[in-house]
Amino acid sequence: MEFKTDRARMWGDKRYHSLNYHLRSKYGGKVFKIPLDAGFTCPNRDGALSSSGCLFCSPRGSGDFAGTRRLNLAQQFAEVKAMMHLKWPQARYIAYFQAFSNTYEHPQRLRELYWQAVVQPGVVGLAIATRPDCLPPEVIEVLQEVNQ
Ligand code: SF4
Repeated sequence: MEFKTDRARMWGDKRYHSLNYHLRSKYGGKVFKIPLDAGFTCPNRDGALSSSGCLFCSPRGSGDFAGTRRLNLAQQFAEVKAMMHLKWPQARYIAYFQAFSNTYEHPQRLRELYWQAVVQPGVVGLAIATRPDCLPPEVIEVLQEVNQ
């Protein structure tokens, strides 16, 4: 049996509308994530719920490709960006708070960290890895604010 491809229903080379396709269409080129480690922990590690962490989580809070936490966010951003530019020399960025639970902190501290990331040159978006029990109303307000 032969399957015919309906070109009108293609998005680039895919039959589904991928995020990569959407970002390329919107920004005119590649957009990649820059994974960061902002120095957070999580309730499954600091003793609030547990101290052993989730079974599938690495010692770096599943942020193994993120910048190193002994550097500040601007330094991490520059370091990871330079490495990724070897593959995509022309690109824009999504700052990605990847390691551990990235809303598990005082709202004012979160505000400071998120703004440090979004003001980096070329950033068009922010991605924040977290868990649903680390999203109190005060943190949602910070996210709404930064989203503007
Ligand atoms: S960072 Fe996330 S995945 Fe890792 S131990 Fe904490 S809750 Fe689990």
